[in-house]
Amino acid sequence: MSDVYLGLPSFPAAARVATKDKRLRANLTRATHTIRDKRAKAVDELEDWSELREAGKAIKDRTLRHLDEYLLQLEAKVTGAGGTVHWARDAEEANRIVADLVKATGEAEVVKVKSMATQEIGLNEALAAEGIAAYETDLAELIVQLGDDRPSHILVPAIHRNRTEIRDIFRDNMARYGRPAPEELTDTPADLAEAARRHLREKFLRAKVAISGANFMIAETGTLVVLESEGNGRMCLTLPETLISVVGIEKIIPSWQDLEVFLQLLPRSSTAERMNPYTTMWTGTTEGDGPSEFHLVLLDNGRTDTLADTVGRQALRCIRCSACLNVCPVYERAGGHAYGSAYPGPIGAILSPQLRGTGTPIDASLPFASSLCGACYEVCPVAIDIPEVLVHLRARVADTEPGHRVERAAMKAATYAMTHPAAYRAAEAAAVRGRNLIPKKIPIAPAKAWTETRDLPELPKQTFRQWWKETHS
Ligand code: SF4
Repeated sequence: MSDVYLGLPSFPAAARVATKDKRLRANLTRATHTIRDKRAKAVDELEDWSELREAGKAIKDRTLRHLDEYLLQLEAKVTGAGGTVHWARDAEEANRIVADLVKATGEAEVVKVKSMATQEIGLNEALAAEGIAAYETDLAELIVQLGDDRPSHILVPAIHRNRTEIRDIFRDNMARYGRPAPEELTDTPADLAEAARRHLREKFLRAKVAISGANFMIAETGTLVVLESEGNGRMCLTLPETLISVVGIEKIIPSWQDLEVFLQLLPRSSTAERMNPYTTMWTGTTEGDGPSEFHLVLLDNGRTDTLADTVGRQALRCIRCSACLNVCPVYERAGGHAYGSAYPGPIGAILSPQLRGTGTPIDASLPFASSLCGACYEVCPVAIDIPEVLVHLRARVADTEPGHRVERAAMKAATYAMTHPAAYRAAEAAAVRGRNLIPKKIPIAPAKAWTETRDLPELPKQTFRQWWKETHS
């Protein structure tokens, strides 16, 4: 990942501040509850939802097992159809490739389709450093960009803003980026959408270069697929002369038949729609139809390392629907910014520490940003067992990062006791004898924070062995 998000405070520190922001919590609660209720209804309409979910999981797992073959197949098909494929090991390489491609066109501005991959690598900031202005065209991304803000949700990046805040952002900042907001702008959704539409139209009509991600890449034909709701994507993907798509290597699926499954899973899980309003597909270039130059930048940026982890690799199945965010009690209270990454919520808690490693305070804290309630797993359309990966990553952090000395010492002591029966018996007997001396709250850190909100379980009057001897002999 890029270093755009690094240096941010750990999750507990950021969440401590965010949970005190009443307006943020009200905005989040209203929005997440609305989306989650709608999603539940949309999913209930399909009798074969659980079979579709299993199919999605199986397709993704099979693809990941043969990722190398499918990627080479995709490269050959895209190249054969007139596109150019670039391979990027990390964020820096991807940003360099894109900046050079834009410069080669002689342009100094680009329009963008909403893309998590380009947020992950900090592309806008990298292009700005090269004197290239990148304009977001998704409505929520536009709000975030005009407000000099960071996205806080995968699907609704400005979910932390209410419509009055959005009106103020439009009024104060639209003129800096192009067509100003109308003087009499109100905070009704129709007015806000109209102001954004007029502001963006100028950019669509002027743009010579567009940058996108993709929801899926179909290996058998080299076709890229973008699903969206506003039509801004369609404008960016068809009007400019040059199209550059930056896509994570895990977004590949083998065939069109596989796409059928995901076209049912994704819209219902994300926007609670039976079908999304715009689905744009393109294969290389076609003379007289759409961009005449197409570049595909295939992004690794930690994905190969993630694939090597047999438990953690299931995170690569993610289709970025955001259903797990909308049901997560931790996300609802802390908001997306506390996760310090382009990927907030439960998926961010398992994906960011795998893509970036657990060497920074924010990444080492993310696997602990969960109550392990399992709601995320229940709603995930590709059945990613997020709690399983969280526990797996917690073990990795506890084993490798400083700051978990007490846990490591406790585990070592437990391992010794459990592999030495005499020591275990002696510890049991000592605990039972001293049971009345063990306090309910422990006033010393780190146990203090833990016992402040929990009661220590009461120790029984006799050990299991004593009880067994008494009742079975
Ligand atoms: S982890 Fe599952 S529920 Fe969460 S965004 Fe990814 S696909 Fe959706």
